[in-house]
Amino acid sequence: MDRDLVKILGYGVDSFTFDEAVEYAYSHHGQIVTINPEMISEARKNKEFSEIVEHADLVVPDGIGVEIGLKILGHKVKRIPGIELGRALIVKFSDENKTVAFVGAKPEVVESAVKMLRTDIQNLNVVYYHDGYFKDANIIMDSLYQAKPDLVLVALGSPKQEFFIAEMKNRLPNSTFIGLGGSFDVWAGHVERAPEIYQNLGLEWLYRTIKEPKRFKRIFPTLPLFILSVLKERLFRG
Ligand code: UDP
Repeated sequence: MDRDLVKILGYGVDSFTFDEAVEYAYSHHGQIVTINPEMISEARKNKEFSEIVEHADLVVPDGIGVEIGLKILGHKVKRIPGIELGRALIVKFSDENKTVAFVGAKPEVVESAVKMLRTDIQNLNVVYYHDGYFKDANIIMDSLYQAKPDLVLVALGSPKQEFFIAEMKNRLPNSTFIGLGGSFDVWAGHVERAPEIYQNLGLEWLYRTIKEPKRFKRIFPTLPLFILSVLKERLFRG
């Protein structure tokens, strides 16, 4: 299976279906970036982060914003929610008797996330986990290197998790890494995912913003500006 990238504001996004993304991630290793408009805006301002996105081994459109942006540019690519891809990867790797590690979130959150996943997923072999509030990343990286997990889920928020993974993937070239934002909080049952109706309408962001109004500042004006930039890109492309 080869990558088939579509471009948005200069960044390549893979056009795999959900199942293809799982297969590709399983067989190719490296860094998975679950991209959203906030991350694309950050990449346009931050050269180092931009390079990480460009060199990622798999880039999936996490939110409705990127799906809409791609649609405006004439690409029909369905979004792949990071939390769902992360979970599907845990299941896939566990089915294949591979090992898994978790880095991120508050201590009690990562611990209950691992506990919940262990009750749900047979064969889950967690070789390492640590919360995301460490001072010295090298200690965590050394421990990961020792544990050599086949799959590493990193939830430190973006772009912190992408920087962490970019460094770690050089040390563990045969592992698969995915940056997952707030997913551990959901798996631990500390934060609820939006009801299905919001998910199906692509309005998960709206639900999360209502529940957690401080998110408003992150989404606005980023989301409208992102759509505007995409419209500009289409206009100039002719
Ligand atoms: N987090 C962390 N270390 C930090 C900052 C954040 O482990 O130094 C965790 C935080 O506890 C949460 C996740 O990173 O579990 C980020 O969640 P957020 O909702 O901000 O991520 P998003 O999905 O919106 O990028």
